[in-house]
Amino acid sequence: MFDLSNKVAIVTGASQGIGKSIAFRLADAGAHVVCAARSINSIKEVANQIKSLNRSASFKQCDVKNPEDIKDLIDFTLKKNNKLDILVNNAGITRDVLLLRMKDEQWNDVLDINLKGAFYSMKHAIRPMIKNRAGRIINISSIVGLTGNPGQANYAASKSGLVGLSKSIAKEVAKKGITVNCIAPGWIETEMTKDLSSNSKKGFLEQIPIGRIGTSDDIAYTVLFLASDESNYITGQTITVDGGRTIN
Ligand code: NAP
Repeated sequence: MFDLSNKVAIVTGASQGIGKSIAFRLADAGAHVVCAARSINSIKEVANQIKSLNRSASFKQCDVKNPEDIKDLIDFTLKKNNKLDILVNNAGITRDVLLLRMKDEQWNDVLDINLKGAFYSMKHAIRPMIKNRAGRIINISSIVGLTGNPGQANYAASKSGLVGLSKSIAKEVAKKGITVNCIAPGWIETEMTKDLSSNSKKGFLEQIPIGRIGTSDDIAYTVLFLASDESNYITGQTITVDGGRTIN
C-alpha cells in the first residue's frame, strides 16, 4: 500500500516543519523527492538525511514569491528526472494582524507566497503531468481557510483561495489522470505555531476532541495517501486533519 516507487515529487517549504515530514514520508514510500525552500543549507541537509536512509532526494533553492524561481524548480526537476508525478504546495507564511492595522505588504506577502506561489507552480507542473496522463497535486490549506480567524484575514483569504483554486483546476484536469486536492491542517506543532501564548494553547487544546496538538507526520501521512494510487477517485476535495477541531 502507498508505494511511490519510481515517482518524482516536489515538496515546497521542505526545509522544516510539515514540509520536511512530507519529504521524508514520500521518500520512505519510494519517491524521489525534490526538496524546495529558500534556506539552501536546510534543504540540502533534509535531502542528505533522506539519502542517508538509502532513499532518494535532491534539493533546489526556490522562493515561491518569485515566478521565475518556480519555473526553474519545475525545469530542474524535469531535466534531472524526465517527469513530475507529485507536486506538494506546502510553503506558507503568516503575517497576523487585525484588518484595521494590516499593511499592504502584510496582505501581499501572504497572498503572494501562500496562494500565488501555488498558482504558478501548478501552471508550470500541469503540462508535464498532462503529457504523462498522470499527476497528483496536493495543496496545504488550513482550517483557518474554512472557518476564518480574527487577526488572520490575509492568511484565511490565501488558504480559502487555495480551496477554490484546487477545485477549479481539479475540474480542468480530471479527465487527464490528474487529481488536485487540499489538506486543511488544524493546529500542528511547528515553528509557525511555537510562539502561541500558553493561554491560547490551553484554549485551543480544550477545543480539540482528540485532545492533543497535531504533528507534522499527521499531515504527511495524509499527503502520502493523496499522492498514492489508492486515492485515484478523490479530486477537488479538502481533507481536514485537525483532531476534530472543526466538528466542535
Ligand atoms: P514552518 O515551520 O514555518 O515552515 C514553513 C516552510 O515554508 C519552511 O520550509 C519555509 O522555508 C517555507 N517557505 C516560507 N516562505 C517561502 C517562500 N517564499 N518560498 C519558499 N518556501 C518558503 O510552517 P509549517 O507549520 O510547517 O507550515 C507548512 C504549511 O502548513 C504552511 O502552508 C502553513 O500555512 C500550513 N499550516 C500549518 C499549520 C500549523 O499549525 N503549523 C496549520 C495549518 C496550515 P524557508 O524559510 O527556508 O523558505
